[in-house]
Amino acid sequence: MTQADKTHPEKTLRDGKLVLASHNPGKLREIAELLTPYGVDVISAGDLGLPEPVEDGETFAANAEIKALAAAKGSGLPALSDDSGLAVVALNGDPGIYSARWAGPEKDFSLAMEKVEEELQKAAETGNDTRAAYFVCALCLAWPDGTTEVFEGRVDGTIVHPARGLQGFGYDPIFQAEGETITFGEMDPARKHSMSHRARAFALLVAEKFASKA
Ligand code: IMP
Repeated sequence: MTQADKTHPEKTLRDGKLVLASHNPGKLREIAELLTPYGVDVISAGDLGLPEPVEDGETFAANAEIKALAAAKGSGLPALSDDSGLAVVALNGDPGIYSARWAGPEKDFSLAMEKVEEELQKAAETGNDTRAAYFVCALCLAWPDGTTEVFEGRVDGTIVHPARGLQGFGYDPIFQAEGETITFGEMDPARKHSMSHRARAFALLVAEKFASKA
């Protein structure tokens, strides 16, 4: 599933300044790479000293809106946020919107990936033995006047064990996209950008906001 909603085609981003409403270095790097061809001047919320808002939404889209709105209102500039995570089918979509929290206060993703494996094995013992999973990314573009636009992308795959690869970030070493033989952790970043949930959400944003420059 990939969707765009609440679009405002009259609001354009071309050649403007954009605040990236994230404090996650892995995401900031990927979003900046994805934006490179479009001549947007990006600055991160962290560089502007903006605080991280409490993400208490119940969906990826709701949390993305909270982050983008806080950054747009705090900076007076359009802001782009990414709320994303890994949904494991046998775990009823967990860790989902809690993907970052499963890594604990130290943001230890080895721990989070071990937890996914432990929970998958427990689920398998009860007969729920699918290793299917998907990454979801909700991008929200917010404007200082409070307008928001959300673009959502998803990539399906399976959870592998043991983890493989040092590329990417977060759960990349245990995620193998459908039709692939290597994990996102083993994948060249450009290849990940050709198929990832973030890239798919991005393609929708680009179609809406940078159509003539793509
Ligand atoms: P958020 O900052 O609350 O959106 O946290 C999202 C979490 O989901 C990240 O910290 C990662 O653990 C995970 N995640 C999201 N996108 C990716 C990805 O592309 N690769 C691996 N993990 C991801």
